[in-house]
Amino acid sequence: MIDLAIRGGTVVTPEGERRADLAIDGERISAIGNVGAGSREIDARGKLVIPGCVDLHTHLASTPTFTPLDDFEHGTRAAVAGGVTTVVSMVYQEDGSLRRGIERGMRDGARSLADFAFHVIVTDPSEAARAEIPGLLRDGHAGLKVFMVSPRFVERRDDYRLLLRAAAEAGAVVAIHAEDHEIVAARTAVLHASGRTGVEHFPDSRPVEAEVKAVAEAVQLAAATNAAIYLVHLSSRAALAALREGKRRARVFGETRPLYLYLTRAQFERPDAALWVGQPPLRDADDVDAVWAALADGTLDTVGTDHIPHTRAAKLAVGLTFDKIPPGVSNLETLLPMLYSEGVRKRRLTLARLAEVLATAPARIAGMYPRKGVLAVGSDADVVVFDPDARRTIRAADLHSACDYDPYEGWDVTGWPEVVLLRGEVAFERGTTRAQPGRGRFVPRSALKW
Ligand SMILES: [Zn+2]
Repeated sequence: MIDLAIRGGTVVTPEGERRADLAIDGERISAIGNVGAGSREIDARGKLVIPGCVDLHTHLASTPTFTPLDDFEHGTRAAVAGGVTTVVSMVYQEDGSLRRGIERGMRDGARSLADFAFHVIVTDPSEAARAEIPGLLRDGHAGLKVFMVSPRFVERRDDYRLLLRAAAEAGAVVAIHAEDHEIVAARTAVLHASGRTGVEHFPDSRPVEAEVKAVAEAVQLAAATNAAIYLVHLSSRAALAALREGKRRARVFGETRPLYLYLTRAQFERPDAALWVGQPPLRDADDVDAVWAALADGTLDTVGTDHIPHTRAAKLAVGLTFDKIPPGVSNLETLLPMLYSEGVRKRRLTLARLAEVLATAPARIAGMYPRKGVLAVGSDADVVVFDPDARRTIRAADLHSACDYDPYEGWDVTGWPEVVLLRGEVAFERGTTRAQPGRGRFVPRSALKW
């Protein structure tokens, strides 16, 4: 007898969607089709059966001076409740060492409810740091991250170029925050000089041109070094055009973030606008249309959450100038249901494309495919039984993040995860978290094959 049968659902596989049963033995999928009796059975009639989502962009790990509100335990409780079964967290290079940052992430990840891996943010692209990269790859750490928006990037362009070359040689993917430091710094200075320091000026401090210039420079760097780059949280029509062009010339992947699919800069006319501060800022309605189109047509590869919430009080603290508001919002639990509700139900995305951008493509880019990101025989049994007709109104009080507000508070969505499995075990079902802290495991990443 098989361990677990998920019976009668619409199963989303790379070959298409079909009515089928899914058999799970131990931690893996053992058959898809008509399967025999299971020791346990889940009735999935009328439900969608989709691969557990892989979020390539979260900030759950601590630093020596900061522990996020949603640490691994809280953040992954929200993740599994939302159908995200693997998270990739940023960790920071520590005392000059990339490995030390990962070691901290591994300690924090011991409390994870979801499977996890890392990108290391490189703040000092020294020769010693570059020399660590091949050893990190051998241990399954195949991701780095660079902030072009940092003054350090400007000061040490040549060292960052060498870093990308070392990453290319070892097979590591380099995630890049593409906003041009000089444009952002100059705009911020002008706004400050004229006393325009309120949150309503935040979008003007980080214009589209800063994003476009940085994307173009990142593409050039990728072309010159042969590095594979992953441009995070792209937000504007013009940046997406630069991405499209870049994909012809270099190994470039593109990510957007839920904020840019659902909200515009009109949010910044509200007195509580700080609640939506993230980098880059919310853009215009035309940009929102362009992000949806790029997600549908394959220009964008993934949606990553950039999950890093802060409390209302921290966001709205009196006296913060626009550049000092802690950036980031909560998004792990609503990632899948909102993309289903606003994307698939509104016919902007097919169901197959949803599975591609939330599971398959991020797993490939992370070097975890086909272990993660797909419903196939032999893959980890990370499975979401999704009720396409469940109606919910998003309220922070009902969600699992430690944050006391949600950026989509009050949104009505149709479609919500009913049962979420991580490696064959129920992690979440019908509103109740079943996974315990420590259930999640490190997922070694392979060098990118592309
Ligand atoms: Zn981020």
